[in-house]
Amino acid sequence: MELSDHSRVGVIGGGPAGSMTAYFLLDLAKSIHLDIDVDIFEPRDFSLTGPPGCNMCGGVISESLVQKLAISGIHLPNDVLMDTIDAYTLHTDHSNAQIRAHTEEMRIACIFRGGGPKGAETQKPLPWQAFDQFLLDLAQKRGANRIPKRVKTLDWDNGRPRVTWGEGQTQTYDLVVGAVGLNGSGLSLFEQMNFGYKPPRATKSYIAELYFGSEEVERRLGKSMHIFLLNIPGLKFLALTPKGPYATLVVLGEHVDKTMLDRIFRAPEMVQCLPPGWKIPVQTCHCQPKIHIGPPHQPFTDRVVLVGDCSSSRLFKDGIGASYKLAKACAYTAVVHGISKQAFQRFFVPTCRELDHDNLLGGIIFSLDHLMRPFSIMQEALLDCVRAEQNDPFSKKKLSTALWDTFTGSASYRTVIANTAHPDIIIKLLKAMLRQWLSRRKNR
Ligand SMILES: Cc1cc2nc3c(=O)[nH]c(=O)nc-3n(C[C@H](O)[C@H](O)[C@H](O)COP(=O)(O)OP(=O)(O)OC[C@H]3O[C@@H](n4cnc5c(N)ncnc54)[C@H](O)[C@@H]3O)c2cc1C
Repeated sequence: MELSDHSRVGVIGGGPAGSMTAYFLLDLAKSIHLDIDVDIFEPRDFSLTGPPGCNMCGGVISESLVQKLAISGIHLPNDVLMDTIDAYTLHTDHSNAQIRAHTEEMRIACIFRGGGPKGAETQKPLPWQAFDQFLLDLAQKRGANRIPKRVKTLDWDNGRPRVTWGEGQTQTYDLVVGAVGLNGSGLSLFEQMNFGYKPPRATKSYIAELYFGSEEVERRLGKSMHIFLLNIPGLKFLALTPKGPYATLVVLGEHVDKTMLDRIFRAPEMVQCLPPGWKIPVQTCHCQPKIHIGPPHQPFTDRVVLVGDCSSSRLFKDGIGASYKLAKACAYTAVVHGISKQAFQRFFVPTCRELDHDNLLGGIIFSLDHLMRPFSIMQEALLDCVRAEQNDPFSKKKLSTALWDTFTGSASYRTVIANTAHPDIIIKLLKAMLRQWLSRRKNR
């Protein structure tokens, strides 16, 4: 079961996973003189501001991903890469410490997935370009045909997947790629094909674009992403990222509600990062997208494969990097090894498994962070070690690098654990905890 000249591929979803898969399929096919037709179904207009144009995300990508994309021929222009972040500031309930990028490759880029936050349309022309629109345009330039419609049903037509959209238009494809993310009704299309697909486990999150104005963003946040390890019940992850005149707030946790947000905005370490007297406006652009937390079941069969968030991804970070990996693996398998269930099992699944297994280790790291939060002595010892490393020009900065990689996605969770489990780091942390304990006893 292989693609041949004039084979038809339907990609459902034109987010990063769908656009990159279409791009890599056409690119690889061209390199072996294979002439295939690729349609991408994407109803969203990414040039719109606010939720209608946006595939809801924190919008942070690592410099290493920017470079990997460039090697694959995807050069992100300056108006897509809005701001560069060269530091992470870790805040606990009591203090903070900054980790600076010590190489250019460690920096982080910020993007808007769509036209920008609701209300930004008053600035014309917009000073940034939507990341998702850029990738979709690129796939179209490579030869993909965009159909700006939502797919309504998927079924089988003599063993080939058939797509129905619009007012009952249908097309039977040789291969259908599902890249529908986690937030629409697209997942059920694939469940209803009865080949055993079950969507990944997901949980709700909260994102808000807070308007401070460029000067206040620079003054309060600088070129640093701020991560808050606060002891608020149910809070798993909290970050504030500078993005032009906005600060993007990302909250992950069980039941992010008004009570939790009130506690977040009253926390002294958060107040320091907000303009004086700032109150969350009623009209703030916000959303509650689902985030990937567990693997899918059977994301492939003969002539059908799923990529991106509706397949395997990375836990709490680098979802776009994971989409890139799966898009490449999917395109390579389909063009070089075929579109049978066996081909996907053999050549696509290993990339999914690598992500799924690494997430198990990621789960351990996030659980440890969660366990540490009520024990301020451990958190303060961690920050002491980070400060000591940052102030020592000869330090190898092992702990800082491990923390940087945990938050940016620049390295796998396996690498993070391997680097942190170093005896040097463990001894330093134990000593710092002892010092914290002694100084607290003295002050009591
Ligand atoms: C709170 C939060 C913060 C995040 N922060 C980051 C971050 O900072 N960096 C990072 O790398 N990742 C981040 N992510 C993850 C990232 O958003 C996803 O990994 C990424 O969007 C996955 O891309 P995708 O193409 O698989 O899905 P999506 O981006 O969701 O795209 C799916 C597309 O499919 C289309 N679609 C759905 N159903 C249909 C249908 N029936 N017919 C046609 N089209 C359809 C949709 O319109 C959509 O455009 C974050 C996620 C969350 C929830």
